Amino acid sequence: MLKRQKDFSSLLAILILSGFLVTSWLSYQVARSSIEKHISTDSLPLTSDNIYSEIQHDLFRPIFISSLMAQDTFVRDWKLNGENNPEKVVKYLKEIQTKYNIVTSYFVSNASGNYYHPKGILKKVSKNDPQDNWYFSFKNTPITQDYEINIDHDTADPNNMTVFVNYKVYDYNNNFIGITGVGLALNTVKQLIESYQQRYQRTVYFINKTGDITLHGDNFSNDLQLSKRLKNSELAHIILNTSSNSVHYENSGNKIYLNSRFIEEFNWYLVVEQGVVDSEKELTKTFIINILLSLLVTAGVLIIAHIAFNRYQSKLMVMATTDKLSGLINRQAFEPIILNNIEQCKRKSQPLTLILLDIDHFKHVNDTYGHLTGDKVIQYVAQACKLYVRESDAVCRWGGEEFIIMLADTPIEGAKNTAKRIQENLLKSDIEPKVTISFGITAYKSKEQLSTFLNRADNALYQAKRNGRNRIEIKE
Ligand code: GH3
Ligand code: MG
Ligand code: MG
Repeated sequence: MLKRQKDFSSLLAILILSGFLVTSWLSYQVARSSIEKHISTDSLPLTSDNIYSEIQHDLFRPIFISSLMAQDTFVRDWKLNGENNPEKVVKYLKEIQTKYNIVTSYFVSNASGNYYHPKGILKKVSKNDPQDNWYFSFKNTPITQDYEINIDHDTADPNNMTVFVNYKVYDYNNNFIGITGVGLALNTVKQLIESYQQRYQRTVYFINKTGDITLHGDNFSNDLQLSKRLKNSELAHIILNTSSNSVHYENSGNKIYLNSRFIEEFNWYLVVEQGVVDSEKELTKTFIINILLSLLVTAGVLIIAHIAFNRYQSKLMVMATTDKLSGLINRQAFEPIILNNIEQCKRKSQPLTLILLDIDHFKHVNDTYGHLTGDKVIQYVAQACKLYVRESDAVCRWGGEEFIIMLADTPIEGAKNTAKRIQENLLKSDIEPKVTISFGITAYKSKEQLSTFLNRADNALYQAKRNGRNRIEIKE
Protein backbone atom coordinates (compact mmCIF):
# COMPACT_ATOMS: atom_id res chain seq x y z
CA MET A 1 0.00 0.00 0.00
CA LEU A 2 1.28 3.44 -0.86
CA LYS A 3 2.01 5.81 1.99
CA ARG A 4 -0.47 8.31 0.62
CA GLN A 5 -3.13 5.62 0.48
CA LYS A 6 -2.35 4.64 4.05
CA ASP A 7 -2.75 8.25 5.17
CA PHE A 8 -5.98 8.50 3.25
CA SER A 9 -7.34 5.29 4.82
CA SER A 10 -6.36 6.36 8.33
CA LEU A 11 -8.00 9.74 7.85
CA LEU A 12 -11.13 8.08 6.49
CA ALA A 13 -11.22 5.64 9.43
CA ILE A 14 -10.73 8.43 11.95
CA LEU A 15 -13.43 10.56 10.34
CA ILE A 16 -16.01 7.78 10.14
CA LEU A 17 -15.25 6.35 13.56
CA SER A 18 -15.23 9.70 15.32
CA GLY A 19 -18.49 10.58 13.57
CA PHE A 20 -20.09 7.34 14.74
CA LEU A 21 -18.61 7.66 18.22
CA VAL A 22 -19.80 11.22 18.70
CA THR A 23 -23.33 10.50 17.48
CA SER A 24 -23.56 7.26 19.49
CA TRP A 25 -22.29 8.98 22.60
CA LEU A 26 -24.62 11.94 22.17
CA SER A 27 -27.65 9.73 21.63
CA TYR A 28 -26.58 7.63 24.61
CA GLN A 29 -26.49 10.76 26.78
CA VAL A 30 -29.81 12.04 25.45
CA ALA A 31 -31.48 8.65 25.97
CA ARG A 32 -29.99 8.42 29.44
CA SER A 33 -31.22 11.80 30.59
CA SER A 34 -34.63 11.20 29.05
CA ILE A 35 -34.86 7.82 30.83
CA GLU A 36 -33.90 9.48 34.11
CA LYS A 37 -36.42 12.24 33.58
CA HIS A 38 -39.06 9.71 32.63
CA ILE A 39 -38.39 7.68 35.79
CA SER A 40 -38.54 10.60 38.18
CA THR A 41 -41.48 12.47 36.67
CA ASP A 42 -43.62 9.76 35.08
CA SER A 43 -42.96 6.11 35.65
CA LEU A 44 -42.10 6.14 39.35
CA PRO A 45 -44.98 8.38 40.53
CA LEU A 46 -47.31 6.33 38.34
CA THR A 47 -46.08 3.07 39.87
CA SER A 48 -46.50 4.60 43.28
CA ASP A 49 -50.11 5.51 42.39
CA ASN A 50 -50.78 1.98 41.19
CA ILE A 51 -49.28 0.38 44.27
CA TYR A 52 -51.18 2.81 46.44
CA SER A 53 -54.48 1.79 44.89
CA GLU A 54 -53.57 -1.88 45.28
CA ILE A 55 -52.75 -1.27 48.92
CA GLN A 56 -56.06 0.48 49.34
CA HIS A 57 -57.67 -2.61 47.97
CA ASP A 58 -55.58 -5.10 49.96
CA LEU A 59 -54.92 -3.41 53.29
CA PHE A 60 -57.74 -0.97 53.83
CA ARG A 61 -60.12 -3.84 54.20
CA PRO A 62 -58.77 -4.79 57.68
CA ILE A 63 -58.88 -1.11 58.67
CA PHE A 64 -62.43 -0.96 57.48
CA ILE A 65 -63.35 -4.14 59.38
CA SER A 66 -61.74 -2.80 62.56
CA SER A 67 -63.61 0.45 62.15
CA LEU A 68 -66.90 -1.44 61.80
CA MET A 69 -66.08 -3.47 64.93
CA ALA A 70 -65.33 -0.29 66.89
CA GLN A 71 -68.65 1.21 65.84
CA ASP A 72 -70.63 -2.01 66.42
CA THR A 73 -73.43 -1.31 68.91
CA PHE A 74 -73.55 -4.96 69.91
CA VAL A 75 -70.02 -4.94 71.30
CA ARG A 76 -70.49 -1.60 73.00
CA ASP A 77 -73.87 -2.55 74.53
CA TRP A 78 -72.57 -5.89 75.69
CA LYS A 79 -69.58 -4.19 77.29
CA LEU A 80 -71.72 -1.44 78.89
CA ASN A 81 -74.06 -4.09 80.26
CA GLY A 82 -71.29 -5.60 82.32
CA GLU A 83 -69.52 -8.04 79.95
CA ASN A 84 -71.93 -10.86 80.90
CA ASN A 85 -71.93 -14.13 78.95
CA PRO A 86 -68.45 -13.72 77.39
CA GLU A 87 -69.32 -16.54 74.90
CA LYS A 88 -71.51 -13.98 73.09
CA VAL A 89 -68.57 -11.70 72.25
CA VAL A 90 -66.32 -14.71 71.60
CA LYS A 91 -68.87 -15.99 69.07
CA TYR A 92 -68.99 -12.51 67.52
CA LEU A 93 -65.17 -12.40 67.19
CA LYS A 94 -65.11 -15.89 65.70
CA GLU A 95 -67.72 -14.84 63.16
CA ILE A 96 -65.56 -11.86 62.13
CA GLN A 97 -62.47 -14.07 61.87
CA THR A 98 -64.06 -16.68 59.62
CA LYS A 99 -66.15 -14.29 57.58
CA TYR A 100 -63.21 -12.07 56.63
CA ASN A 101 -60.62 -14.85 56.63
CA ILE A 102 -58.15 -13.10 58.92
CA VAL A 103 -55.63 -14.45 61.42
CA THR A 104 -57.14 -12.97 64.55
CA SER A 105 -59.74 -10.62 65.94
CA TYR A 106 -60.00 -9.29 69.47
CA PHE A 107 -61.59 -6.94 71.89
CA VAL A 108 -59.82 -5.76 75.07
CA SER A 109 -62.08 -4.23 77.67
CA ASN A 110 -60.64 -1.29 79.53
CA ALA A 111 -62.84 -1.94 82.58
CA SER A 112 -62.02 -5.61 83.13
CA GLY A 113 -58.72 -5.80 81.21
CA ASN A 114 -60.02 -9.00 79.57
CA TYR A 115 -58.54 -9.88 76.21
CA TYR A 116 -61.42 -11.46 74.26
CA HIS A 117 -60.44 -13.65 71.33
CA PRO A 118 -62.28 -16.11 69.03
CA LYS A 119 -61.14 -18.91 71.36
CA GLY A 120 -62.28 -17.27 74.59
CA ILE A 121 -60.78 -14.95 77.18
CA LEU A 122 -57.09 -15.13 76.50
CA LYS A 123 -55.76 -13.13 79.44
CA LYS A 124 -56.04 -9.96 81.43
CA VAL A 125 -53.84 -7.20 80.07
CA SER A 126 -51.49 -5.80 82.66
CA LYS A 127 -49.20 -2.81 82.78
CA ASN A 128 -46.55 -5.10 84.20
CA ASP A 129 -46.56 -7.46 81.23
CA PRO A 130 -44.30 -6.13 78.46
CA GLN A 131 -46.42 -8.16 75.99
CA ASP A 132 -49.30 -5.81 76.71
CA ASN A 133 -47.40 -2.59 76.08
CA TRP A 134 -49.16 -2.11 72.78
CA TYR A 135 -52.48 -1.74 74.60
CA PHE A 136 -51.37 0.91 77.04
CA SER A 137 -49.31 2.88 74.59
CA PHE A 138 -52.14 3.05 72.05
CA LYS A 139 -54.68 3.85 74.74
CA ASN A 140 -52.55 6.84 75.74
CA THR A 141 -52.25 8.29 72.24
CA PRO A 142 -54.20 11.54 71.62
CA ILE A 143 -57.93 11.20 71.25
CA THR A 144 -57.65 12.28 67.59
CA GLN A 145 -55.86 9.05 66.70
CA ASP A 146 -58.65 6.49 66.23
CA TYR A 147 -56.50 3.63 65.12
CA GLU A 148 -53.00 2.44 64.51
CA ILE A 149 -51.24 -0.27 62.60
CA ASN A 150 -48.87 -2.21 64.74
CA ILE A 151 -46.58 -5.10 63.93
CA ASP A 152 -46.17 -7.35 66.92
CA HIS A 153 -46.09 -10.94 68.14
CA ASP A 154 -49.54 -12.39 68.28
CA THR A 155 -50.60 -12.74 71.93
CA ALA A 156 -52.47 -15.93 70.99
CA ASP A 157 -49.59 -17.35 68.91
CA PRO A 158 -46.30 -15.71 69.94
CA ASN A 159 -44.30 -17.38 67.16
CA ASN A 160 -46.14 -15.46 64.47
CA MET A 161 -45.53 -11.82 63.64
CA THR A 162 -48.84 -10.16 62.93
CA VAL A 163 -49.96 -6.86 61.47
CA PHE A 164 -52.59 -5.54 63.87
CA VAL A 165 -55.11 -2.85 63.16
CA ASN A 166 -56.08 -1.49 66.56
CA TYR A 167 -59.18 0.63 66.90
CA LYS A 168 -60.28 2.59 69.97
CA VAL A 169 -63.83 1.86 71.17
CA TYR A 170 -65.87 4.58 72.85
CA ASP A 171 -69.25 4.49 74.60
CA TYR A 172 -72.08 6.75 73.56
CA ASN A 173 -70.64 9.56 75.67
CA ASN A 174 -67.23 9.30 74.08
CA ASN A 175 -65.59 7.58 77.00
CA PHE A 176 -62.84 5.16 76.12
CA ILE A 177 -63.99 1.61 76.83
CA GLY A 178 -61.47 -0.60 75.11
CA ILE A 179 -59.61 -1.54 71.96
CA THR A 180 -60.80 -3.84 69.22
CA GLY A 181 -59.24 -4.90 65.96
CA VAL A 182 -58.04 -7.60 63.61
CA GLY A 183 -54.67 -9.04 62.75
CA LEU A 184 -53.21 -10.17 59.46
CA ALA A 185 -50.28 -12.55 59.20
CA LEU A 186 -47.18 -10.48 58.53
CA ASN A 187 -46.26 -12.98 55.84
CA THR A 188 -49.47 -12.23 53.99
CA VAL A 189 -48.60 -8.54 53.97
CA LYS A 190 -45.00 -9.28 52.97
CA GLN A 191 -46.29 -11.43 50.14
CA LEU A 192 -48.35 -8.47 49.01
CA ILE A 193 -45.24 -6.29 48.98
CA GLU A 194 -43.33 -9.02 47.16
CA SER A 195 -46.04 -9.22 44.52
CA TYR A 196 -45.97 -5.44 44.03
CA GLN A 197 -42.19 -5.56 43.72
CA GLN A 198 -42.32 -8.40 41.24
CA ARG A 199 -45.03 -6.93 39.12
CA TYR A 200 -43.66 -3.41 39.02
CA GLN A 201 -39.96 -4.33 39.23
CA ARG A 202 -39.44 -1.74 41.95
CA THR A 203 -38.43 -1.84 45.59
CA VAL A 204 -41.44 -1.20 47.83
CA TYR A 205 -41.41 -0.56 51.57
CA PHE A 206 -43.12 1.41 54.32
CA ILE A 207 -41.69 3.79 56.90
CA ASN A 208 -43.36 5.26 59.95
CA LYS A 209 -43.21 8.90 60.91
CA THR A 210 -39.96 8.51 62.81
CA GLY A 211 -38.25 6.98 59.78
CA ASP A 212 -38.24 3.31 60.87
CA ILE A 213 -38.75 0.92 57.98
CA THR A 214 -41.81 -0.98 59.14
CA LEU A 215 -42.59 -3.33 56.26
CA HIS A 216 -40.49 -4.51 53.37
CA GLY A 217 -40.05 -7.42 50.98
CA ASP A 218 -37.70 -10.39 51.28
CA ASN A 219 -34.43 -9.12 49.84
CA PHE A 220 -33.98 -6.02 51.83
CA SER A 221 -30.85 -4.43 53.26
CA ASN A 222 -30.29 -4.52 56.99
CA ASP A 223 -30.56 -0.78 57.39
CA LEU A 224 -34.05 -0.44 58.80
CA GLN A 225 -33.73 3.30 59.33
CA LEU A 226 -34.46 5.57 56.35
CA SER A 227 -31.53 7.92 57.02
CA LYS A 228 -29.13 4.96 57.16
CA ARG A 229 -30.58 3.41 54.00
CA LEU A 230 -30.22 6.65 52.08
CA LYS A 231 -26.94 7.45 53.88
CA ASN A 232 -28.36 10.94 53.95
CA SER A 233 -30.18 12.16 57.04
CA GLU A 234 -31.05 15.49 55.42
CA LEU A 235 -32.89 13.72 52.59
CA ALA A 236 -34.62 11.43 55.09
CA HIS A 237 -35.71 14.50 57.05
CA ILE A 238 -37.19 16.07 53.89
CA ILE A 239 -39.08 12.86 53.04
CA LEU A 240 -40.46 12.55 56.58
CA ASN A 241 -41.70 16.13 56.56
CA THR A 242 -43.57 16.26 53.28
CA SER A 243 -46.62 14.30 52.26
CA SER A 244 -45.09 13.23 48.95
CA ASN A 245 -41.73 13.50 47.29
CA SER A 246 -39.66 12.48 44.29
CA VAL A 247 -35.96 12.45 45.07
CA HIS A 248 -32.88 10.42 44.22
CA TYR A 249 -29.87 9.16 46.09
CA GLU A 250 -26.67 7.30 45.36
CA ASN A 251 -26.14 3.71 46.41
CA SER A 252 -22.65 2.36 45.73
CA GLY A 253 -22.37 4.41 42.56
CA ASN A 254 -25.90 3.71 41.32
CA LYS A 255 -28.50 6.41 41.07
CA ILE A 256 -31.70 5.35 42.84
CA TYR A 257 -34.94 7.24 42.32
CA LEU A 258 -37.30 7.32 45.28
CA ASN A 259 -40.94 8.29 45.46
CA SER A 260 -42.61 8.68 48.83
CA ARG A 261 -46.17 9.42 49.83
CA PHE A 262 -47.83 9.61 53.18
CA ILE A 263 -50.74 7.20 53.67
CA GLU A 264 -52.94 8.71 56.31
CA GLU A 265 -54.86 5.53 57.02
CA PHE A 266 -51.64 3.74 58.01
CA ASN A 267 -49.90 6.74 59.44
CA TRP A 268 -46.99 5.42 57.31
CA TYR A 269 -45.16 6.48 54.21
CA LEU A 270 -45.21 4.27 51.15
CA VAL A 271 -41.82 4.32 49.45
CA VAL A 272 -41.18 3.06 45.93
CA GLU A 273 -37.62 2.95 44.64
CA GLN A 274 -36.14 2.31 41.24
CA GLY A 275 -32.57 2.17 40.06
CA VAL A 276 -31.65 3.32 36.59
CA VAL A 277 -29.30 0.37 36.33
CA ASP A 278 -31.52 -1.91 34.22
CA SER A 279 -32.50 0.70 31.69
CA GLU A 280 -28.91 1.88 31.56
CA LYS A 281 -27.68 -1.65 30.97
CA GLU A 282 -29.98 -1.75 27.95
CA LEU A 283 -28.59 1.58 26.82
CA THR A 284 -25.01 0.46 27.28
CA LYS A 285 -25.79 -2.69 25.29
CA THR A 286 -27.25 -0.58 22.48
CA PHE A 287 -24.23 1.71 22.69
CA ILE A 288 -21.82 -1.21 22.36
CA ILE A 289 -23.82 -2.69 19.47
CA ASN A 290 -23.70 0.74 17.80
CA ILE A 291 -19.95 0.89 18.21
CA LEU A 292 -19.50 -2.64 16.84
CA LEU A 293 -21.73 -1.82 13.89
CA SER A 294 -19.79 1.35 13.21
CA LEU A 295 -16.54 -0.62 13.35
CA LEU A 296 -18.04 -3.02 10.82
CA VAL A 297 -19.25 -0.19 8.59
CA THR A 298 -15.86 1.53 8.87
CA ALA A 299 -14.09 -1.69 7.92
CA GLY A 300 -16.47 -2.09 4.96
CA VAL A 301 -15.93 1.48 3.81
CA LEU A 302 -12.15 1.08 4.14
CA ILE A 303 -12.18 -2.12 2.09
CA ILE A 304 -14.31 -0.50 -0.62
CA ALA A 305 -12.12 2.61 -0.55
CA HIS A 306 -9.02 0.42 -0.81
CA ILE A 307 -10.39 -1.43 -3.84
CA ALA A 308 -11.55 1.79 -5.50
CA PHE A 309 -8.25 3.46 -4.76
CA ASN A 310 -6.28 0.57 -6.24
CA ARG A 311 -8.43 0.46 -9.37
CA TYR A 312 -8.15 4.18 -9.81
CA GLN A 313 -4.45 4.01 -9.14
CA SER A 314 -3.77 1.32 -11.73
CA LYS A 315 -6.00 3.10 -14.27
CA LEU A 316 -4.00 6.26 -13.68
CA MET A 317 -0.78 4.31 -14.02
CA VAL A 318 -1.90 2.89 -17.36
CA MET A 319 -3.08 6.30 -18.52
CA ALA A 320 0.18 7.94 -17.50
CA THR A 321 2.46 5.37 -19.09
CA THR A 322 0.62 4.29 -22.23
CA ASP A 323 0.29 6.02 -25.56
CA LYS A 324 -3.34 6.04 -26.50
CA LEU A 325 -3.03 5.77 -30.27
CA SER A 326 -0.49 2.97 -30.53
CA GLY A 327 -1.03 1.20 -27.22
CA LEU A 328 2.73 1.27 -26.71
CA ILE A 329 4.44 2.67 -23.64
CA ASN A 330 5.41 6.34 -23.81
CA ARG A 331 8.75 8.05 -23.23
CA GLN A 332 7.98 8.56 -19.52
CA ALA A 333 7.52 4.84 -18.95
CA PHE A 334 10.42 3.90 -21.19
CA GLU A 335 13.05 5.74 -19.25
CA PRO A 336 12.94 3.72 -15.98
CA ILE A 337 12.83 0.49 -18.01
CA ILE A 338 15.93 1.27 -20.01
CA LEU A 339 17.76 2.54 -16.92
CA ASN A 340 16.93 -0.70 -15.18
CA ASN A 341 18.20 -2.68 -18.18
CA ILE A 342 21.41 -0.66 -18.31
CA GLU A 343 22.01 -1.68 -14.69
CA GLN A 344 21.36 -5.34 -15.49
CA CYS A 345 23.49 -5.21 -18.58
CA LYS A 346 26.36 -3.76 -16.52
CA ARG A 347 26.02 -6.41 -13.82
CA LYS A 348 25.71 -9.40 -16.11
CA SER A 349 27.93 -8.00 -18.88
CA GLN A 350 25.16 -8.62 -21.38
CA PRO A 351 24.73 -6.64 -24.60
CA LEU A 352 21.89 -4.09 -24.84
CA THR A 353 20.84 -2.50 -28.11
CA LEU A 354 18.48 0.23 -29.28
CA ILE A 355 16.63 0.54 -32.59
CA LEU A 356 15.34 4.04 -33.30
CA LEU A 357 12.99 4.06 -36.27
CA ASP A 358 11.09 6.75 -38.12
CA ILE A 359 8.50 6.43 -40.89
CA ASP A 360 9.75 7.95 -44.14
CA HIS A 361 7.98 10.93 -45.65
CA PHE A 362 5.15 10.70 -43.22
CA LYS A 363 4.13 14.28 -43.80
CA HIS A 364 3.32 13.24 -47.30
CA VAL A 365 1.10 10.41 -46.03
CA ASN A 366 -0.84 12.85 -43.87
CA ASP A 367 -1.07 15.41 -46.63
CA THR A 368 -2.19 12.97 -49.29
CA TYR A 369 -4.39 10.48 -47.37
CA GLY A 370 -5.42 12.50 -44.39
CA HIS A 371 -4.61 12.41 -40.71
CA LEU A 372 -6.83 9.42 -39.90
CA THR A 373 -5.02 7.25 -42.42
CA GLY A 374 -1.76 8.55 -40.94
CA ASP A 375 -2.97 7.34 -37.55
CA LYS A 376 -3.75 3.88 -38.96
CA VAL A 377 -0.24 3.66 -40.39
CA ILE A 378 1.24 4.61 -36.99
CA GLN A 379 -0.89 1.90 -35.35
CA TYR A 380 0.20 -0.67 -37.91
CA VAL A 381 3.90 0.09 -37.52
CA ALA A 382 3.53 -0.10 -33.73
CA GLN A 383 1.99 -3.60 -34.01
CA ALA A 384 4.65 -4.70 -36.48
CA CYS A 385 7.38 -3.62 -34.06
CA LYS A 386 5.76 -5.58 -31.25
CA LEU A 387 5.65 -8.77 -33.32
CA TYR A 388 9.41 -9.31 -33.28
CA VAL A 389 10.34 -8.49 -29.69
CA ARG A 390 10.36 -10.58 -26.53
CA GLU A 391 8.74 -10.04 -23.15
CA SER A 392 12.02 -8.71 -21.80
CA ASP A 393 12.30 -6.09 -24.60
CA ALA A 394 10.47 -2.76 -24.75
CA VAL A 395 8.79 -0.91 -27.63
CA CYS A 396 7.97 2.75 -27.10
CA ARG A 397 6.35 5.49 -29.14
CA TRP A 398 9.18 7.97 -29.05
CA GLY A 399 7.50 10.82 -30.87
CA GLY A 400 4.97 11.41 -33.70
CA GLU A 401 5.92 8.65 -36.16
CA GLU A 402 9.11 7.71 -34.38
CA PHE A 403 9.55 4.56 -32.27
CA ILE A 404 12.31 3.14 -30.12
CA ILE A 405 12.93 -0.54 -29.40
CA MET A 406 15.13 -1.70 -26.56
CA LEU A 407 16.44 -5.25 -26.98
CA ALA A 408 17.70 -6.81 -23.80
CA ASP A 409 20.60 -9.26 -23.93
CA THR A 410 20.85 -8.77 -27.71
CA PRO A 411 23.95 -7.87 -29.77
CA ILE A 412 23.93 -5.52 -32.76
CA GLU A 413 23.42 -8.45 -35.16
CA GLY A 414 20.25 -9.50 -33.38
CA ALA A 415 18.93 -5.94 -33.49
CA LYS A 416 19.68 -5.72 -37.20
CA ASN A 417 17.68 -8.92 -37.75
CA THR A 418 14.75 -7.50 -35.87
CA ALA A 419 14.88 -4.31 -37.95
CA LYS A 420 14.99 -6.38 -41.12
CA ARG A 421 11.99 -8.41 -40.12
CA ILE A 422 10.01 -5.24 -39.47
CA GLN A 423 11.10 -3.94 -42.86
CA GLU A 424 10.02 -7.15 -44.57
CA ASN A 425 6.74 -7.14 -42.76
CA LEU A 426 5.94 -3.68 -44.13
CA LEU A 427 7.00 -4.71 -47.60
CA LYS A 428 4.70 -7.71 -47.58
CA SER A 429 1.79 -5.96 -45.87
CA ASP A 430 -1.22 -4.71 -47.76
CA ILE A 431 -1.39 -1.53 -45.72
CA GLU A 432 -2.38 1.48 -47.81
CA PRO A 433 -0.39 3.61 -48.44
CA LYS A 434 2.75 1.54 -48.41
CA VAL A 435 5.38 3.16 -46.19
CA THR A 436 9.04 2.56 -45.60
CA ILE A 437 11.03 3.03 -42.42
CA SER A 438 14.54 4.19 -41.63
CA PHE A 439 16.36 2.46 -38.74
CA GLY A 440 19.26 3.58 -36.57
CA ILE A 441 20.88 0.89 -34.40
CA THR A 442 23.42 1.13 -31.62
CA ALA A 443 24.67 -0.92 -28.65
CA TYR A 444 25.26 0.22 -25.09
CA LYS A 445 28.84 1.03 -24.21
CA SER A 446 29.80 0.38 -20.63
CA LYS A 447 29.60 3.32 -18.21
CA GLU A 448 28.10 5.71 -20.74
CA GLN A 449 25.14 7.97 -19.89
CA LEU A 450 21.69 7.16 -21.17
CA SER A 451 21.65 10.43 -23.13
CA THR A 452 24.88 9.49 -24.94
CA PHE A 453 23.40 6.10 -25.77
CA LEU A 454 20.21 7.70 -27.14
CA ASN A 455 22.11 10.37 -29.07
CA ARG A 456 24.08 7.70 -30.87
CA ALA A 457 20.87 5.92 -31.88
CA ASP A 458 19.55 9.27 -33.11
CA ASN A 459 22.69 9.81 -35.14
CA ALA A 460 22.36 6.37 -36.70
CA LEU A 461 18.78 7.15 -37.70
CA TYR A 462 19.83 10.54 -39.09
CA GLN A 463 22.46 8.72 -41.09
CA ALA A 464 19.85 6.33 -42.50
CA LYS A 465 17.67 9.28 -43.52
CA ARG A 466 20.60 11.06 -45.12
CA ASN A 467 21.67 7.95 -46.94
CA GLY A 468 18.37 7.75 -48.74
CA ARG A 469 15.81 6.36 -46.21
CA ASN A 470 14.28 2.84 -46.07
CA ARG A 471 17.54 1.49 -44.66
CA ILE A 472 19.29 0.34 -41.54
CA GLU A 473 22.30 2.23 -40.20
CA ILE A 474 24.47 1.04 -37.35
CA LYS A 475 26.61 3.24 -35.11
CA GLU A 476 29.14 1.25 -33.14
P1 GH3 B 1 11.18 12.02 -42.95
O1 GH3 B 1 11.24 10.96 -43.93
O2 GH3 B 1 12.39 12.94 -43.02
O3 GH3 B 1 11.00 11.50 -41.59
O4 GH3 B 1 9.96 12.88 -43.36
P2 GH3 B 1 8.66 13.12 -42.56
O5 GH3 B 1 7.63 13.66 -43.43
O6 GH3 B 1 8.27 11.86 -41.86
O7 GH3 B 1 9.17 14.22 -41.58
P3 GH3 B 1 8.78 14.64 -40.14
O8 GH3 B 1 9.31 13.67 -39.14
O9 GH3 B 1 9.22 16.07 -40.00
O10 GH3 B 1 7.22 14.59 -40.13
C1 GH3 B 1 6.47 13.85 -39.25
C2 GH3 B 1 5.02 14.17 -39.38
O11 GH3 B 1 4.23 13.24 -38.66
C3 GH3 B 1 4.67 15.55 -38.89
C4 GH3 B 1 3.35 15.34 -38.12
O12 GH3 B 1 2.31 16.09 -38.66
C5 GH3 B 1 3.05 13.90 -38.31
N1 GH3 B 1 2.54 13.31 -37.14
C6 GH3 B 1 3.07 13.37 -35.90
N2 GH3 B 1 2.30 12.68 -35.02
C7 GH3 B 1 1.21 12.21 -35.72
C8 GH3 B 1 0.06 11.45 -35.38
O13 GH3 B 1 -0.15 11.05 -34.24
N3 GH3 B 1 -0.82 11.13 -36.36
C9 GH3 B 1 -0.62 11.55 -37.62
N4 GH3 B 1 -1.54 11.23 -38.57
N5 GH3 B 1 0.44 12.29 -37.97
C10 GH3 B 1 1.35 12.62 -37.04
MG1 MG C 1 9.43 10.68 -40.67
MG1 MG D 1 9.92 12.08 -37.57
